[in-house]
Amino acid sequence: MSCINNSVCKLCRRENTKLFLKGDRCFSDKCAFERRPYPPGQHGQSRLKFSEFALQLREKQKAKRYYGLSEKQFRKYFENADNSKAITGTELLKYLELRLDNVVYTLGFAASRREARQLISHNHFAVNGKRVNIASYIVNKGDVVEVVEKSREVNKVLAGIQSVARRTIPSWLEANHAALKGTVKDFPTRDEVSIPVEESMIVEYYSR
Ligand code: SF4
Repeated sequence: MSCINNSVCKLCRRENTKLFLKGDRCFSDKCAFERRPYPPGQHGQSRLKFSEFALQLREKQKAKRYYGLSEKQFRKYFENADNSKAITGTELLKYLELRLDNVVYTLGFAASRREARQLISHNHFAVNGKRVNIASYIVNKGDVVEVVEKSREVNKVLAGIQSVARRTIPSWLEANHAALKGTVKDFPTRDEVSIPVEESMIVEYYSR
């Protein structure tokens, strides 16, 4: 798991976009990015000119932080995407979206990806009827992700479902909140991935 600390709101301000790292707070007027939409630090409000490299770096950092990954994990996904025959940037986003922690969050069973990782590692989820406690597990088309029987009263899961009303579940996933399960209907297309990132710049960053 990534070493994201308590100052996660600074990451949104640094990347100049909302990364939705704090669950419900991200949708409230307490959101730090809504209140101070400029980078943290003494020179945060200065007009800075970014080099091509700096812009590419920022796009990479934005995606890495959005999904809560370490550099090593993120680079591994890039290498896998680069080795595939598909378009590298799109394939990279597809891998990231298909991580179990992202799917659990997107289906609405956790308030944030960070919380989803914690719930998964505590054995609260199963894929196709088998418990999975690895957040980086890559789901496949047709997989059914569900809250295991014993965990159906876990407060964080129930709170996550309440907070999902503020988010949109993409069409490649189907959620059944009453049954506490969801289905991966298809692989996500680029249009269905909501992260505001230019993946081609990430490809350029790693191709230097
Ligand atoms: Fe980012 Fe706002 Fe959520 Fe903090 S509250 S993590 S600034 S979106």
